[in-house]
Amino acid sequence: MELSLWTYEGPPHVGAIRIANSMRGVHLLLHAPQGDSYADLLFTMIERDNHRPPVTYTTFQARDLGSDTAELVLRSIHAAVEKHKPQVLLVGDSCTAELIQDQPGSLASSSGLSVPVVPVEMLAYSRKENWGAGETFYSLVRGLLQNRVPAPGSEAPPRTNEQPSVNLLGPSSLGFRCRDDVREVTQLLNDMGVRVNVCAPLNASPHDLLRLPEADANVCLYPEIAGPACDWLHRNFKQPTIKTVPIGVGATREFVAEVAKTLGIDHTPDSEASRLPWYSRSVDSTYLTGKRVFVFGDATHTVAAARIAHEELAFEVVGMGTYSREQARSVREAAKELGLEALISDDYLEVERVISELQPELVLGTQMERHIAKRLGVPCAVISTPAHVQDYPARYSPQMGYEGANVIFDSWVHPLMMGLEEHLLAMFRDDFEFNDGAQPSHLAAEGVSTRSEAPAVNDASHGEDDTGASAELTWDLNAERELRKIPFFVRGKAKRNTERFAADNGVNVIKVDTLYEAKAHYSR
Ligand code: SF4
Repeated sequence: MELSLWTYEGPPHVGAIRIANSMRGVHLLLHAPQGDSYADLLFTMIERDNHRPPVTYTTFQARDLGSDTAELVLRSIHAAVEKHKPQVLLVGDSCTAELIQDQPGSLASSSGLSVPVVPVEMLAYSRKENWGAGETFYSLVRGLLQNRVPAPGSEAPPRTNEQPSVNLLGPSSLGFRCRDDVREVTQLLNDMGVRVNVCAPLNASPHDLLRLPEADANVCLYPEIAGPACDWLHRNFKQPTIKTVPIGVGATREFVAEVAKTLGIDHTPDSEASRLPWYSRSVDSTYLTGKRVFVFGDATHTVAAARIAHEELAFEVVGMGTYSREQARSVREAAKELGLEALISDDYLEVERVISELQPELVLGTQMERHIAKRLGVPCAVISTPAHVQDYPARYSPQMGYEGANVIFDSWVHPLMMGLEEHLLAMFRDDFEFNDGAQPSHLAAEGVSTRSEAPAVNDASHGEDDTGASAELTWDLNAERELRKIPFFVRGKAKRNTERFAADNGVNVIKVDTLYEAKAHYSR
């Protein structure tokens, strides 16, 4: 096993916890060693949930391994059902518990519980967190609905809804902006006259999952989580899957068109619904057009971000990739369309090496890439999990739909605009209105001068000034340039000190060396 400091995804049982924590009435019994409850902190600290996840850990210890751990599993199962009274009990094991082979799912299924049991196979040594979440959601959907699947060859029951409806599948606890995406997409659908039948797993109950077949179609909002469940519903209940993920203006329009076509309704996308197209056109082209961008994250957000960067903001995508091997195909295809080879890796050091080589001007990535970009001094915006606490904002901040496109514009372009401000400051530094010695324009009417507080380089040193410096002092060109590199708020003091040092030492022409000798002198 490779031990590393950071990982993009946790083990698959963390994915199972995400599904249990997303839903109401579901409890997870996790056969796991003492200490695995660390996972609770992901939810309470990063997502700031006001409750611990609905998980009972068997918490076996080293000394238990010599005795009957299956007995411990059974005791924990009965205690969990007694205490939490779930509508459904999910049962799985973590990496270490998988090695003991207690088969907790089988134990629970055959122990005569009064609640439905859904065992989940975690494949801890070959799979990761997002796969675990997708597999758990699929197991729940199949476990609850398999008795209702129409017999082979029979017609699917006709949908009775007068209003067309869809299920929103995939949003989950610890997903990227899922809470707000659901609200945005629900509004988008309602504006089309489409009702959301069930949204799951986020905020759904097992009872809600039983109503999934009532919808006309399933919207696969996050393929990592909902892909297997959508495929199963399609195979068994003939429900079509709407696959366009509405992140970005273009994709949102395509999503609306796909919903309309799938449900047989008439709807024209609103071309003015997002400010992104106009805002991006209105920004100085120097700051968007051709900006070199590197994109990395889960597959859903990476593919969407690369498309927005290329088609809607006129950036040049110089590299893209994903840590998700299961979803690598869609990223490879998207990269190929841009003439790139996708980076498929869950080794953050390799990602850092590629970013360093490519030298992008903007990084769109996960929390990992935020760290990398910070080290390299490159602007960065987070577009995907794994994310940190600041990417679970209290305010409304979707990524999907037209409002999501506005949020994306703000969060991607502003890091570049901060660069623009610095560039403008540098460009106009010597302008008579903007130089450091110019008085603020709002004080012009009072005739107040601030020159003595922040002396400019080019007013330097002819005649005695308030520093008491000698009248013959001059600065040579290189020394002046060096002085300009000093932050403006300490530059005046540095200048005065240097001139005093020069006068004390009989130096008439201040050179770069004089500047640094003075600095060393006053630092002692
Ligand atoms: S069971 Fe897996 S997740 Fe839990 S402590 Fe062991 S290696 Fe880590």
